Amino acid sequence: MIELRHIAKSFDGTTVLRDVNAVIRDGEIFAVIGPSGSGKSTLLRMINLLDSPTNGRILLDGTDIHGEHSQPLEVRRRMAMVFQRPAVFNMSVYENIAYGLRLRHLPEEEIREKVGWALEVIGLSGYGTRQARTLSGGEMQRVALARALVTAPAVLLMDEPTANLDPVSTAVIEELVVRINREQGQTVVISTHDMHQGQRLAHRIGVLMDGVFSQVGTPREVFATPKNKHVARFVGIEN
Ligand code: ADP
Ligand code: MG
Repeated sequence: MIELRHIAKSFDGTTVLRDVNAVIRDGEIFAVIGPSGSGKSTLLRMINLLDSPTNGRILLDGTDIHGEHSQPLEVRRRMAMVFQRPAVFNMSVYENIAYGLRLRHLPEEEIREKVGWALEVIGLSGYGTRQARTLSGGEMQRVALARALVTAPAVLLMDEPTANLDPVSTAVIEELVVRINREQGQTVVISTHDMHQGQRLAHRIGVLMDGVFSQVGTPREVFATPKNKHVARFVGIEN
């Protein structure tokens, strides 16, 4: 369980997040939706320890991950992040996916098994020996997702993973997220500026605007009963 408690974040005196509060439950797909510049990436980066809040606390199963008793390596081991721009290493698809497993010193046999499974899940069996840099953007993003999944993280963070992808690759990634969450019970935190993607994927949505979650609820709640006119406008319902 991830608890965001009164998160504030400023850069050089400019406040991006003012007071973000939410509880992200184990096993749910939680979508952070909000316009460009609302602080979605900043929030996910702080959950992944790539940045720290100016104020407030992020609790992972009750422990403040930025606190003095936090164990960053342990936190990182439990999470994986997929970024907006598909990021692959300059090596084969197989080695890209095996990367985190090699860091964990798993036996070769186990690595082969897990990479094989991941390649199948992302629909790229037979692509193992391809240089990852020669893939299309959508394929690269699938490889990035496989690399994240193969280490079986409890929490999968995805920062606008389909923002640069074509509709077909977007649909493939969306299907994968849903399938993985259903089959493996991973907690998924996905950010998007596309409220329809939030509606398609998420169990719950947090609408990030003006430095706070203006509303947290199921897609049905947010779309049917937006809390205020800003939320209504963002989800495309004028009132
Ligand atoms: P989103 O992902 O919702 O588009 P971001 O989290 O990337 O929003 O950015 C929110 C705001 O914070 C933007 O105005 C951005 O310019 C600013 N920002 C993000 N990171 C930094 C940084 N490292 N230094 C200064 N400003 C930043
Ligand atoms: Mg962003």
